[in-house]
Amino acid sequence: MSIFYDFHIHSCLSPCAEEEMTPFNLVNLAAIMGHVAIALTDHNSCQNCAAAMRAGEQAGITVIPGMELCTCEEVHVVCLFEELKAAEEFSSFVLSGIPPIKNRPEIFGTQLIMDHEDKILGSQDLLLTTASSISIDDVEKIIDGYGGVCYPAHIDRSSYSVISNLGMITKEMGFEIAEVSPTGDVDALKAKFPILESMKILTSSDAHRLDSMRPAELCLHTDNTIKSIINHLKNR
Ligand SMILES: [Zn+2]
Ligand SMILES: [Zn+2]
Repeated sequence: MSIFYDFHIHSCLSPCAEEEMTPFNLVNLAAIMGHVAIALTDHNSCQNCAAAMRAGEQAGITVIPGMELCTCEEVHVVCLFEELKAAEEFSSFVLSGIPPIKNRPEIFGTQLIMDHEDKILGSQDLLLTTASSISIDDVEKIIDGYGGVCYPAHIDRSSYSVISNLGMITKEMGFEIAEVSPTGDVDALKAKFPILESMKILTSSDAHRLDSMRPAELCLHTDNTIKSIINHLKNR
C-alpha cells in the first residue's frame, strides 16, 4: 500500500518545539493531513514515543518510535526503531552520555514529557540539544544493534548536517538513506555528492510547530506496520 509518511517530527519534549506539539496534537493532525505513518523524532530522547504511539493507535495512524540524535560531531541523524523498548533503551543510553548541562526553560524552552491525552507527566532536566557521545562513524552499527535504521538528517542545510559539518558523506559511514529538506535541491546535491545516486532519499517536515507540519505528499510502497516500514528502509 501507499504509506504517506513524515518521519521527522518534534514534540514538546524538544526545547525548540512549541508546547502545542503534544503527542496527541501532532499525531491527530498528521492523521487528518492524510499520513499513514509518522515518526516522532525528538532531540536525543524517545521519552514521548510511548504517548505518541498510543495516540496513534487511537487515531488509526502508525507511529514509529524515533529520535533525532546529535552526534559528537554535531551532525543530526534520524533514528527509527522497530520496537519501543529498544528505542527507550537507546534513549537512556544517549542520555547517560550527554553533557550534564541543565535545561533552562526560560532560555531554551520547556522539555515536556506527556501521556497520550495531553497530561504532563514531567519534564526532562538535562538539555537535550547538546552533542551526544556517539560518532557519525559508529551510529549506523549502533542503531542496527537496537533493531533500527538511521540516516543523516536535512543534509542540504547549513547547520547540524553531515555535509555542513564534515563536508562529505562517505560509504564508510554506512548510510543507505539520506534526508533532504522539503526545500532542498536533490539534483544539485547528487551532482555534488554522487554517492547519493545509490541512496534512498527521504523528505520529511522536521516540524517544530503545528503549522509547519506538511500535508501527505510523499509515500513509500510497503505494508503498514512498523516492521515492514523498517525492513523497507533497510532494503530487506
Ligand atoms: Zn536537525
Ligand atoms: Zn529535527
